[in-house]
Amino acid sequence: MPRSIDSRLDFLSPVSLVPGLGPKRATALRESGIDTIGRLLHHFPLRYVDRSTITPISDLYKYGSVTRTIVGTITKTRVERGRSARLRVRITDDSGDMEALWFHGVPFFRKSLHTGMRVLCTGAVKLSPAAGVSLMFHPMIESISGDRRLPEILFLPQYPLTLAMHDAHLGQKALLKAMQWSLDNVKHWPQALPGGLELEKKFPPLEHCIREMHFPSDPAAQPRFKARIIYEELYRLAVALVWNKRKFAQPGRSLSAGALADSFRKLLPFALTEEQERAIDVLLADARSTLRMHRLLQGDVGSGKTVAAFFACLPAFNEGFQAAWLVPTEALAQQAFSVLAPWCEKLGVAIDMLRGGIAMEKKKRILESCSTGRVQCVIGTHALLQPSVVFKKLGMIVIDEQHKFGAAQRLALQEKDRAADFLLMSATPIPQTLAQTAYGDLDIVSICGLPPGRMPVKTNCVPLHKRSAMETFVRGEILARGVQVFWVVPRIEKDDESDSIKNAESVYDVLSKGVFSGLQCSIVHGRVEPEEQQRRMEEFKQGTIKALVATTIIEVGIDVPNASIMIVENAERFGLAQLHQLRGRVGRSSKQSYCFLLANDTENQAARQRLVYFCSHHDGFEIAEMDLRMRGPGEVIGWRQSGADDLLMGDIIRDAELFREILNEVEPGLNPAEKA
Ligand code: ADP
Ligand code: MG
Repeated sequence: MPRSIDSRLDFLSPVSLVPGLGPKRATALRESGIDTIGRLLHHFPLRYVDRSTITPISDLYKYGSVTRTIVGTITKTRVERGRSARLRVRITDDSGDMEALWFHGVPFFRKSLHTGMRVLCTGAVKLSPAAGVSLMFHPMIESISGDRRLPEILFLPQYPLTLAMHDAHLGQKALLKAMQWSLDNVKHWPQALPGGLELEKKFPPLEHCIREMHFPSDPAAQPRFKARIIYEELYRLAVALVWNKRKFAQPGRSLSAGALADSFRKLLPFALTEEQERAIDVLLADARSTLRMHRLLQGDVGSGKTVAAFFACLPAFNEGFQAAWLVPTEALAQQAFSVLAPWCEKLGVAIDMLRGGIAMEKKKRILESCSTGRVQCVIGTHALLQPSVVFKKLGMIVIDEQHKFGAAQRLALQEKDRAADFLLMSATPIPQTLAQTAYGDLDIVSICGLPPGRMPVKTNCVPLHKRSAMETFVRGEILARGVQVFWVVPRIEKDDESDSIKNAESVYDVLSKGVFSGLQCSIVHGRVEPEEQQRRMEEFKQGTIKALVATTIIEVGIDVPNASIMIVENAERFGLAQLHQLRGRVGRSSKQSYCFLLANDTENQAARQRLVYFCSHHDGFEIAEMDLRMRGPGEVIGWRQSGADDLLMGDIIRDAELFREILNEVEPGLNPAEKA
């Protein structure tokens, strides 16, 4: 005989099993992210209506606008006709009378409320001196049996409602009923925490904690219950993370750089920083390990990640394997090629570049040298991901500016050789704790700080009335010191809807005819043909073009050391991490560099604060942390991976310390603090 549904009810059961949640309501819940009973039970109240004290009606006058609860008997009901009907109900207790008024749902309340009924009534008290009685508009009202003095639920939960819930007429009452039913009928409560841990932490059982969150017996005791729920959430996240890591711990090849490492070191015109050396050690150790490297190399803009990543390719070259180096844009491919090609040449490594726009003939030739193994190092854009690109012996995969690629694209490249080492690079550093969750499947190594001799970029917010003074200053710098300027604008062209947002086309027009007249200016953005864009970037690099108006396509990785002024229009529209990326385009030489932020919306206090913070901070990790605090993890990472977004009560930043502790609990030694 099949068991009844009840006996199997657990956290994974669909919400549609809850009586009262028909198809429409269940759909609304699903749309609100609540698909299972477990998830429903984690939809906690925002606040509670305190009904633990009953106020005598004659005392209500002391509580203007305060929510109170009374118990009394209905002594009169009357529908008053006017432009619209309203229901006036008189309620009496031993001490006096009050009135309750309804403007909406009059027929319903009229039918359900009648004289002689004992009711419990909660609402904000309105004083009506004229009438001499206290009033409540639209109070919560329910009938209460004769001998009860207090309601069954003393602290009435008030749940957050989504629009979808509203539309499906899923209100407080229905949710409350669903919660009650679920609490009473769930048969299996998940046991995520090991029993020993539960004891050690003196956590009350999960069931008890969840019940107390919905229907507290004493709100003052709630922190204890909440603490367990947070702990449990973070624990699950930690377990998922450890699992992910294990999943990616796949067999690889043990490769050694041999003499190539020293030869390459000797080629460099500078000494590597200690941080770079440390990162390189880690990467070479990964390469030697028989497990596949699966690592994120993060570091501030300009911290010198490229050199470190190239070191990571040497083991592959040394042992006759190939390396694929993926970048997000044509311009970056060109740039990476011009940096890596001389290195490769001197080390005797054959290098080539695969881009979208190249001629069929040439493309065929490159594909062929990939598959025959004649070329050892291939730099490319998305073109590299195509199935037609086949490698003979792929040993190393590098993905630069990895946040510009989706998980699917990462995977596509990984699939080219499952044993190949895999290195992601990110110039949007994120704080360690978040990195652990956001990139839970990856090992991480960070390069902190910049190579010596860099001066911090002087950063200022420029108020509207100083704009023209700034423009004159910039022109002077171009003429006197021969510097070059990036002028970043959020939009490409005019958008009728908002004049307040600058667009590249008209800024370019105004500048080139105005303050920059007689100087070489140019403009690049997504709608300029790639070939043309390439040409303009090249001219800017050569120094023929002095001022480059651009959208954020120059955000990523472009290296023009002589450019030492960055101007950002509508800076309030950018996240801190993005501004930091932009600012990283300058300050790449020994010259003093400047970054000027033009902001429209300085009325907006939060936006203003952000920019002021940015002016005085230069460390990418710190800025990322602030960005995170202000905008939340989803925004900062840009894509969702291992569930930091799934936290309902836990907060990966607020609870960072606790999370570290828990990770250590789940797998001791998993995350030795990699960055202090
Ligand atoms: P990013 O981390 O942003 O990719 P790059 O690797 O492009 O930074 O390096 C930025 C610049 O710093 C490059 O011109 C590079 O040659 C230079 N550089 C890298 N390491 C050092 C170092 N140890 N000393 C001096 N300059 C360095
Ligand atoms: Mg780089």
